[in-house]
Amino acid sequence: MPHTDTPHKRKLFIETVGCQMNVLDSELVVAALRQTGYELTDDIREADAILFNTCSVREHAEHKIYSHLGRLKHAKRRRPDCVIVVMGCMAQKDQQLIFERAPHVDLVVGTGQLREIPRLIEQARRDREQRLAVSLHRKAGSRQAVAASFESYDPLRTPEMRPSPFQAFVRIMIGCDKFCTYCVVPMTRGPEQCRPPSQIAAEVRVLADQGVREVTLLGQTVNSYAAVENGRQYRLHDLLELIHDTGGIDRIKFVTNYPRDLSDELLQAVRDLPKVCRYLHVPAQSGCNDVLRRMKRGYTVEEYREMIARIRSTVPGCAVSSDFIVGFCGETEKSFERSMDLIRDCRFKNSFIFKYSPRPGTKAYELYEDDVPEEIKRRRNNEMLALQNRISEEDNAAFIGRRVEVLVEGPSKAAEKAGASGPDAPVQLVGRTDCDRIVVFDGHPRLAGSLATIEIHDCTSTTLIGSIVTHEITHGASVSLPIVQ
Ligand code: SF4
Repeated sequence: MPHTDTPHKRKLFIETVGCQMNVLDSELVVAALRQTGYELTDDIREADAILFNTCSVREHAEHKIYSHLGRLKHAKRRRPDCVIVVMGCMAQKDQQLIFERAPHVDLVVGTGQLREIPRLIEQARRDREQRLAVSLHRKAGSRQAVAASFESYDPLRTPEMRPSPFQAFVRIMIGCDKFCTYCVVPMTRGPEQCRPPSQIAAEVRVLADQGVREVTLLGQTVNSYAAVENGRQYRLHDLLELIHDTGGIDRIKFVTNYPRDLSDELLQAVRDLPKVCRYLHVPAQSGCNDVLRRMKRGYTVEEYREMIARIRSTVPGCAVSSDFIVGFCGETEKSFERSMDLIRDCRFKNSFIFKYSPRPGTKAYELYEDDVPEEIKRRRNNEMLALQNRISEEDNAAFIGRRVEVLVEGPSKAAEKAGASGPDAPVQLVGRTDCDRIVVFDGHPRLAGSLATIEIHDCTSTTLIGSIVTHEITHGASVSLPIVQ
């Protein structure tokens, strides 16, 4: 009797931590595995392949992955066929150490080898050998050789893994050459390499055809983008112009900006291109020059303030958010106060605040003592958060009574938790303004993916709360109040 294969879909479980780059990498890996017959599951117990897409930026994120891996030891004994994969930044950084700490892991795959995952999983299933696939260390060869070992990987996409069906990330570059002393990214993601503009434009076109309305261009220092194609030099503002008229795309965002590379041309593009969101994430990290110098950030606080002034004068109403590290080596009470002053003066829309955590492999780890005690880091973290929250709430309060236009993302987390209540029943929806402000309001789930006008009647430090504006007709003409962002 001829042997016939019953079509069996293998199950794939993936957990992603870290930045948007990781979210995108997970989307691509899932798409590739789908092509080889896998389907996603939320239940780790039924998975045939378990993938952890990891982050090395903070120690805490690594600890979580190691303890998660520890918990899988017995499951692997029960189901030796299940392939366990550690991929991403921690894989590139810890390499063999992962097998030592978690011997039941099958594959350790760095950020530059993601395209090999389907093949490696099949091999592991066949021979149950452990395999390590990582890129060269940054000092292990010429720049060209190291760069080649960190290949960018953007061939496939899968809508199910996106933040929402209407929003997608698009990588425009990989790696980083800035070498801030606290950061592992130049080691885990390799040298800065930019994708050709035509390839990016083609990908945006494909995404628009799939129903995406908002693209976020990704790069560790996205505004350092520089590529030459057909003899023409492209910087980020040229790229924005190139993709701006893609039909179907309503909004274009880009993260993360490096303060020193925020050019006037880029600000003018944000001001003049209507689809480009008036929102800039430009991490300051500290408001003290001594600390910035030790971090090797490449700018002074005066230069950062001057950059903020340029943003305010060129793009009025532009929202700016920032990152801060508290308790970096040698940060005194005075240095910390300077960071607080910077937050007070710049009035960021929001700030992501982190306690410094020394990372092996970085310059700060080698050169400086982690000399700020944990309780002081915690106190500074809390004080900074309280200040930022106060500013965010005050600035959000200015929206009360005004109208904003949002891209509706879908039901809010609270609505999802509450569960379905009928296909046409209104639920709490969430959307974002052009300036990246989160707005919640009640409406029909089918509004997801559309632009809606919301009147704001309340707020918290993180959220604007409002209601959908009904189309009012007065004397045959629609009333339209000015929309603010
Ligand atoms: S710019 Fe600095 S903080 Fe940002 S990824 Fe590069 S090295 Fe890390």
